[in-house]
Amino acid sequence: MTEKLKGYTKAMARLVERFEKLPGIGRKTAERLTYHVLTSSREDVKQLEEAIRDVKENVISCAVCHNIADSDPCEICSGPRRDESLICVVEQPRDLIALEAAGNYNGLYHVLGGHIAPLESIGPEDLTIADLARRVKEREVKEVILATNPNLEGDGTALYIQQLLAPTGVAVTRLSRGLASGGSIEHANPVMLSDALSGREEF
Ligand code: ZN
Repeated sequence: MTEKLKGYTKAMARLVERFEKLPGIGRKTAERLTYHVLTSSREDVKQLEEAIRDVKENVISCAVCHNIADSDPCEICSGPRRDESLICVVEQPRDLIALEAAGNYNGLYHVLGGHIAPLESIGPEDLTIADLARRVKEREVKEVILATNPNLEGDGTALYIQQLLAPTGVAVTRLSRGLASGGSIEHANPVMLSDALSGREEF
């Protein structure tokens, strides 16, 4: 236990330390959350506990697009109103969530599970790229939109996929350059994402 947690009961100090491990949570917020749990009803705490466990135990990966989902295929892949000739390629599920929030995309997705990063020994084979190529080959896909993050690794990954798909003749586009370079899809605001999607350009 760290010095500053003196005065807490053992159980409370343990929870503060747990909360502090979460991304974006500092000591003060961790303490506030701990007090919140302490003063919540037993039922509320039980609900929170169940929601956390549920995310870990009942969320599966869609075998088609590799998005995290409640069902396989996921709601997007099996959605009757989605345009199956369009695939938007993203690095992570949270990028997909950001693009869905932009509200003007009606096609399908493909989640890579990261980006190519030679320095971290992450190669194309560690991502779902081969699966994307198979989807393009086997389904009637007209356009692949590369929506990897606008940074060095994201751009490199996009270039690799563009070269891989070139022989198939499918149109490969990318989001317009309106997004801040070095930024991320996840943190871009919905209006900018919506513009970047509608203004997408030939790779
Ligand atoms: Zn899916």
